[in-house]
Amino acid sequence: MTQKILLLPGDGIGPEITVEAEKLLTVLRDRHGLDASWSRAYIGGAGYDRAGHPLPPATLDAAKSADAILLAAVGGPKYDTLPKDLRPERGLLGLRAALGLYSNLRPAILYPELADASSLKPEFVSNLDLLIVRELTGGIYFGKRETVVETDYKVGSHVIPKARVARDTEAYSDFEVERIARTAFETARLRGKRLCSVDKANVLDASQLWRQVVIEVAKDYPDVELSHMLVDNAAMQLVRGPKQFDVIVTSNMFGDILSDIAAQLTGSIGMLPSASLNERGQGMYEPSHGSAPDIAGQGVANPLAMLLSVAMLLRYSLKRGDLADKIEAAVRKVLAAGLRTGDIAKPGEARIGTAAMGDAVVAALGA
Ligand code: NAD
Repeated sequence: MTQKILLLPGDGIGPEITVEAEKLLTVLRDRHGLDASWSRAYIGGAGYDRAGHPLPPATLDAAKSADAILLAAVGGPKYDTLPKDLRPERGLLGLRAALGLYSNLRPAILYPELADASSLKPEFVSNLDLLIVRELTGGIYFGKRETVVETDYKVGSHVIPKARVARDTEAYSDFEVERIARTAFETARLRGKRLCSVDKANVLDASQLWRQVVIEVAKDYPDVELSHMLVDNAAMQLVRGPKQFDVIVTSNMFGDILSDIAAQLTGSIGMLPSASLNERGQGMYEPSHGSAPDIAGQGVANPLAMLLSVAMLLRYSLKRGDLADKIEAAVRKVLAAGLRTGDIAKPGEARIGTAAMGDAVVAALGA
C-alpha cells in the first residue's frame, strides 16, 4: 500500500532543505521502488502567516492521517514578539502532544572525514555511532509543579521564616518506562544489540522503578546486552570514551542533557537527524538544528541532517531499512569525496551550496 508522508518545511532554511528531501524521495520512488506519496502543509511561522496559527487545523488533520512526517525547522526573529501560544515552537510541541510521540531517537554519528570538527581528539570520536532514546512525554517536564511561599522552611540547620519554594516532580509509571524500554530494545536489535539504561537509581525512587522495569522488559530481549549507568557517570563517559556506547535509553530530562552532549561531540549540528515515534510506529522526523535565520534564503544551508532524517523515516516508519542504508552510504560517499557545505568546511576548503549537496547525494545513490 502506498504510504503517505507529510512534508512540513516550516521557516528559515526549512523550505530550502525540504526541496532537497523531496528531490531525494522522488528519485527513491522513481528508481528504487519506494511506494510512497507526499504532500505539504504549513507549520510554525509559516502556519501563522497563512492561517493565523502555528499549527493550523488542516496541518494537524494531515499529520494525523500521515504514516510519517518530515519537519524541517520552525522559528525566526520575525515571530519572537508573538504571544506564547502563537509562537512557532507551539506548532511543534502541539504536534508532538497530539500524536503522542513519546520516544525521541537522537543519533550522534561522526564521519571520519569530519573528525576534526569535534572538540575531542579524533581518535576518541572518529567513527562514533551512538543513539540516544529519550522518553519525551513524561518525567519532570510534565510532573506536578508549584511555586509557593512556605513558613519555617528548613534547610539543614537553617529555618527560613518565610521562603519562596519551587517544586517540580519527577514521576514515571511502569507503563511509561516499559514502552520506552521496548522502543530502545527494538532499536538496539536493529543496531549493535547493546543497550545502556541511564538513571539515578542510587538516589531517586523514579529511577529505581525505571531500572526494575527495564530489567523486567530485558527478559523479552535475550539477544540484547543490557547494562546500567548512573547519569553523572554517563555524562563523564560520553566525553571520556563515547565509542563504548551503542544505544542509550533514559528519561526525559537526562536525555535532554545527554543528547546535547552527544550532539556536540560530533561538532556539526547540520549533520544530525532525529525521530520522535508513537505507539503505532508513526513518527515525526526532523533535523536536530533549528531554522538558521542567519543563513536563510542564501542557498548555503547543509541539507544532510534533513536527508539523514529521510533515512530514519524510511527505516523506522516505512520499514525500508534497505533504502535508509543507501542514503547513509551516499552521504558517506559525498563526504569521502570531499564535498562540504560552509558549516562543515575547514578554513580555505572549497564549499558547495544546498542544492549541489542534495544533487551529490542523489547521484551517489547509484542505480
Ligand atoms: P539553529 O540551529 O537554527 O542555528 C545555530 C547555528 O547553526 C547558526 O549559526 C546556523 O546558521 C547554523 N546552522 C543550523 N543549521 C544549519 C544547517 N543545516 N546548515 C548550516 N548551518 C546551520 O539554532 P538557533 O540559532 O538557536 O535558533 C534559530 C531559530 O530556530 C530560533 O527561532 C529557534 O527557536 C529555532 N529552533 C527551531 C528548532 C526546531 O524547529 N526543531 C530547533 C532549535 C531552534
